[in-house]
This record gives sequence, C-alpha cells and structure tokens, in this order.
Amino acid sequence: MIILKSKKEKNNILVLKKKTRETGDILTLKFSLLKGPVFSFRPGQFVLVSFLDDRLGKQCRAYSISSCPQDKFLTLTVKKIGVFSSALHKLKIGEKVKIGSPQGNFYPEKPMKNLVFLAAGIGIAPFYSVINTYFRQGINNKNLTLFYSNKTDKNIVFFKELNKLAKKWRKFKIIYILTKQKKDCNDENEEFQRLNIKILKKYLKDLNNKHYFICGPIEFVNDLWQALRKNGVGEDSIKTEVFY
Ligand SMILES: Cc1cc2nc3c(=O)[nH]c(=O)nc-3n(C[C@H](O)[C@H](O)[C@H](O)COP(=O)(O)OP(=O)(O)OC[C@H]3O[C@@H](n4cnc5c(N)ncnc54)[C@H](O)[C@@H]3O)c2cc1C
Repeated sequence: MIILKSKKEKNNILVLKKKTRETGDILTLKFSLLKGPVFSFRPGQFVLVSFLDDRLGKQCRAYSISSCPQDKFLTLTVKKIGVFSSALHKLKIGEKVKIGSPQGNFYPEKPMKNLVFLAAGIGIAPFYSVINTYFRQGINNKNLTLFYSNKTDKNIVFFKELNKLAKKWRKFKIIYILTKQKKDCNDENEEFQRLNIKILKKYLKDLNNKHYFICGPIEFVNDLWQALRKNGVGEDSIKTEVFY
C-alpha cells in the first residue's frame, strides 16, 4: 500500500523495547522515541513505518497507534500477514524503525455521547487507543458499545484488558462476535455468526442518534457501512478505516 508523504512530514526514530504476544499471529511492539518525548497524536491515528536499513527497500506500511497519547512509550499492534509485518515481528529489542507524523481522522471529532465501534480482528488497534484514552481521561459518561468480530475467542486481541475496562466502566459494553466458533452455554454478549444489522439492532435497539466507527478488512467495512446506510443511518454518522 503506498501513501504519499506530505512535504511537511517529520520522521521520528523509534527503538524497540518490548514485544508482547497477543494471539498466535499478533504482537504488540512497544517503542520509545530515540530523541525526546512521544509526539502528540490523536487516539485513532496511524503512522507510516519504514526500516532504517535497506532490508525492505523504501517500502513503508501504515500502522495504527495502539497506545494512548499520555503514555511515555508508543505501541503498534501488528498482525503477521506478509513481507512487511513479518519483518516487524522479527525486529529485535534495541533495533530501530522510522515513522512519519501521525495521520488520519479516525476518531470522534466533536463531543459524541453515543458511540458504536465495529472492529474486525486487528481492526481493534485504533479503538484500543481511543477506549483507553477516554477511560483514563474520565470521559466514561459516554455510552460506548464495541462489537468485536473474530473467528474464535483465541483470536481476540486485548481480551483481558477490554473486559477489565468494561467491568469498571458501566456504560461501556462489549459484544464479541465469533464467526467460526460453536455456541456454548455461557455466551451472554456473544454472537456466533458474522456481524450483521440484526445483531446491531438486537443490542442497540435504536440505530439512530449514534456515531459509528468501523475498522477492519474492506469486506467487513463495506458490508456494515451499506447495512447501516440502508437502515437509515446518515453518512455523517459513520466513519471508516480500511486496513489494506
Ligand atoms: C490506515 C491503516 C492502518 C493500519 N493499521 C494496522 C495495524 O494497526 N495493525 C496491522 O497489523 N495492520 C495495519 N494495517 C495494515 C498494514 O498497513 C499492512 O497492510 C499489513 O501489515 C500487511 O502488510 P504486509 O507487507 O505484511 O503484507 P503484504 O505483503 O502487503 O500482503 C500479503 C498478502 O496479504 C493480503 N493482505 C494484506 N493485508 C491484509 C489484511 N489486513 N487481511 C487479510 N489479508 C491481507 C494482501 O492482499 C496480500 O495478498 C493498517 C493499514 C492502514 C491502511
């Protein structure tokens, strides 16, 4: 995926400090900045990452920042898919990468009270930053519903962390969508089929007066965007981020 860099863009050098395995094919990479404190960014934004040496030529890829602006470090949560993400997984502690300025506007811009986040797989990364930031800022008077789709519960990223937040934040509700797992008895707030409009209606009751954010592969984002639009949700109330 190629994204043109603006002339104003400033590069930062990150040093890898820690690798945490989240699931079989997903790692969270914790970096510190080589110089100075972490730059300011909005939770939900992404950075373009490239290597300092020529192991992958001049290639770069976009990764959402999964940490919060208040953190003294910066994390990227990366699913191993192809050449670039595999190289990031192989990165050794102490090795460096280059990142551009934070980009994107995948975050609630104005005060929004009723938020609905729809994530598939690694699409949870930008939401994790937004959810944690809200919680830490004490903006937990919002109604926030997260529909998080994965093949099975073994693929859920940040499972413990998200559940911990939901326990402390009464208005934050998580519905896990497990598309390739059989239903069992203890499955409150779990659905065992692809995320669809029926499921959204079941939990949200009224689709109106809410702001929707959708993140994941193109098919997931397109299907849900269209389903919401067909059911009367205005274009202005839906923001999307596709992980190409
Ligand atoms: C705004 C933005 C934010 C992103 N944030 C993240 C993030 O936080 N974490 C993260 O892991 N990735 C994220 N991505 C995706 C990331 O930029 C890379 O595309 C991804 O890591 C694959 O790159 P690769 O070189 O490893 O695979 P490639 O060699 O480019 O692709 C290998 C094969 O996998 C297919 N493929 C590529 N991406 C996917 C996918 N998501 N699902 C299924 N098949 C795929 C390709 O079509 C190709 O056939 C983001 C993308 C965008 C545009």
